[in-house]
Amino acid sequence: MRLKPTQRDVHEFYARTHRYFWLPCPLCGEEFGGHEWQDIDGKPSAIFREPEAPNKGTGICPKCTAAGLGDMAYGQPYSPE
Ligand SMILES: [Zn+2]
Repeated sequence: MRLKPTQRDVHEFYARTHRYFWLPCPLCGEEFGGHEWQDIDGKPSAIFREPEAPNKGTGICPKCTAAGLGDMAYGQPYSPE
């Protein structure tokens, strides 16, 4: 039996061979790679949730970014309006 690599496996392989990070998304837990990490349609791809370090953003996955779950800054969730 041969397992067909999933789209995620391909991304993981790419991230690991190109020295990008490969980490679970802090919001949904799905792993994603540094090469996929970017703002989408102006929606921020990070969250700022640490009161002790309000400027410290943590990257979130492309799905959560596209869903508008990122933060503009600490205490400022993204909203399209
Ligand atoms: Zn996510």
